[in-house]
Amino acid sequence: MSATTRTVLITGTSSGIGLAVAVAAARAGWRSIATLRDTTRADALREAAAEAGIELDIRALDVTDETSVAAAVDGVIADHGRLDAVVNNAGAGHLGTLENDSLADIRDVMEVNFFGVLSVSKAALPHLRTTGGRLITVTSVGGVVGQPFNEAYCAAKFAVEGYMESLAPVARTQGVHVSVVEPGAVDSKFVSNIGIDLDVDVSVAADPYSDTLRHYINRTADQFLDGSAQTPAAAAEAVMEVLNADRPKFRVQTSDWARTFVSTKLADLDGSAVHGVTDAWVG
Ligand code: NAP
Repeated sequence: MSATTRTVLITGTSSGIGLAVAVAAARAGWRSIATLRDTTRADALREAAAEAGIELDIRALDVTDETSVAAAVDGVIADHGRLDAVVNNAGAGHLGTLENDSLADIRDVMEVNFFGVLSVSKAALPHLRTTGGRLITVTSVGGVVGQPFNEAYCAAKFAVEGYMESLAPVARTQGVHVSVVEPGAVDSKFVSNIGIDLDVDVSVAADPYSDTLRHYINRTADQFLDGSAQTPAAAAEAVMEVLNADRPKFRVQTSDWARTFVSTKLADLDGSAVHGVTDAWVG
């Protein structure tokens, strides 16, 4: 690869959407920097790369650790001299409700899903300004529509969307495109990574919400089991469209289901109406 090859850094590539984006980006000719917080867990990533016949640059990056974030971004610049795009994909779900969550639980959710995104974006922006690059964040339909027992997760995703929608016109004055990508249900490790022990958590820890939580879990499990959940590769296609577009939209849903769901809340589906107003505030 030459010094002019466009370079993208993706967070959270041990599984799911991040892994699929890392592979798809390399396939599309990007230098793909696949980061994960524990590089000893890169087997799935390596296997996918071998299967696709592509090369990945695998590096450590924990989005909650500023030293790790700085080391990853500085390392990319030292080795490749450029950064053209970041895909903030790392994230983690959390199931709970206010009465049963501790504030520490809620802060942890914000650390990964909100402050983690800001930490990586802040480190990357000076380099994205140099290349006229793009800053893409995988949020969720839960970044637009609040969902029961996802209070902390949706709050974090709403926060990211609000931050990025506000940042976009400012970044655009420097030639950087900011976008959010909103998946609905995706069949990844997302649900199992929540790590909830249904028998214990639902009957004891969720009191007095146990029955309501069970109802919610059964309904959500059906959505993941009835085949309507997207594959990570399909969700990654939406990220790739943003990555490769000349003028990427601010807000992109990854499926028709996600578009319909989000449209129940938003009239401004692609973000151009809001930015039609706020762009004029900065230039
Ligand atoms: P996933 O398979 O669980 O992948 C999440 C990735 O984030 C994993 O690689 C995980 O790494 C990583 N991660 C977690 N904490 C991290 C940290 N502190 N630093 C760096 N990486 C960290 O789930 P996914 O579905 O692909 O999720 C990707 C994104 O899509 C997330 O932002 C999620 O919120 C969003 N999303 C998912 C769905 C869905 O239904 N799956 C729906 C809407 C939005 P480890 O392996 O080290 O934990």
